[in-house]
Amino acid sequence: MTACKWCGTSFPPMKKKVFCSTDCKSACHAAVKDLGEDMVASGIITISQLRDRHEAKKAAVGPYTG
Ligand SMILES: [Zn+2]
Repeated sequence: MTACKWCGTSFPPMKKKVFCSTDCKSACHAAVKDLGEDMVASGIITISQLRDRHEAKKAAVGPYTG
């Protein structure tokens, strides 16, 4: 069994799957978005740094597919 990275619920192992449900996946993505917004608001990272990192990662691994 695999433990959901968000809530810890066990689920059968599936290739590349780290969340037990789309709710957990959505909750994690929303939390990451909030964190990113807080980091920009508090000056930890700038929008341009965020954009550059995102563009570099897209170029390295291809488009995000969820
Ligand atoms: Zn979960």
